[in-house]
Amino acid sequence: MARTALVTGGIGGIGTAICQRLAKVGYNLVANHHPSESEAAERWKQERMAEGLAIATIAADVSSFEESVRMVGEITDGQGPIDVLVNCAGITRDKSFKKMELDQWQAVIQVNLDSVFNVTRPVWEGMLERGFGRVINISSVNGQRGQFGQANYSAAKAGMHGFTMALAQEGAAKGVTVNTVSPGYVETAMTLAMDEAVRNSIVSGIPMGRMARPEEIAAAVAFLASDESSYITGANLPVNGGLFIH
Ligand code: NAD
Repeated sequence: MARTALVTGGIGGIGTAICQRLAKVGYNLVANHHPSESEAAERWKQERMAEGLAIATIAADVSSFEESVRMVGEITDGQGPIDVLVNCAGITRDKSFKKMELDQWQAVIQVNLDSVFNVTRPVWEGMLERGFGRVINISSVNGQRGQFGQANYSAAKAGMHGFTMALAQEGAAKGVTVNTVSPGYVETAMTLAMDEAVRNSIVSGIPMGRMARPEEIAAAVAFLASDESSYITGANLPVNGGLFIH
C-alpha cells in the first residue's frame, strides 16, 4: 500500500517541488497550506492535476497546536496514518536585532519551530506503534551559521535541528528516523523577486555559482523519506552548493 506523506507549507516554492517528487514516486500526498491560502491552494491542486498528480490539500495554521491536531486527525481518518512528515512551513521577518520587535521574534519562532512540535506530536506515537516513520525538518543554512538580520530565523532553524537530534534518539529503535535538511539559497518566488544586485552578490558567494533549484532540495527529502535511508537518523543534510561546509 502506498505510504502517506504530509508536507506542511506544501504549496510554497520548496514544498511544491517536494510534493511533486514524492507524488511521482507513488506516495499518497497531502499538502498543507495556511487557511488564508485556500484559493491559491485550489489553483495549485488544479495545476498538479494538469501534471497528472492527484495531491490532496488541507488548510491548517501549523503555528497552532489545536489546528495541527485537527489536521492530522482529518488526514488519518480520510487517508490513513501519516508515514512521512515533512515540516516545511516557514516564514521570515528579518530585522537587525536592535530594531526587532517582539511580534517579529514570536511569529518566526511560532511558525518555524513551534509548528515542528505541533505537527510531529500528533503523528509520533502512531509511527512508533507501526514501526515505521520518517520526519524530515526543513531548516536552513542560516540556522547552521547564523545570518545578520535573522536572529529570530537563525534561532528557530537551529532549534529545529536540536529537535531532530533529540527525537532521532527516541525513534531509533522503532524504525522511525528524524532528519534535518538545510538548504542554502533556493530559486523560489522569494529569491527570484530580489533586486538583481542583491541576488548577484549572494550568488557570487556560493562556490557552485548558482542558487539551488527546488528539485534539488526535493531530491534530498525523497532520499531521506525512502527505505534506502534506513540507517540515517539525527543527521543534518546540507544542500547548499558549498556555501557552508563544516
Ligand atoms: P514559501 O514562502 O514559498 O513557502 C512556505 C509556505 O509555508 C508558504 O506556502 C506559506 O504560506 C506556508 N506557511 C507559512 N506560515 C504557515 C502557517 N502558519 N501554517 C501553514 N503554512 C504556513 O517559502 P520556501 O522558500 O518554499 O520555503 C520553504 C521552507 O524552506 C521554509 O521553512 C524556509 O524557511 C526554508 N528555506 C528556504 C530557503 C529559500 O532560499 N527559499 C532557504 C533555506 C530554507
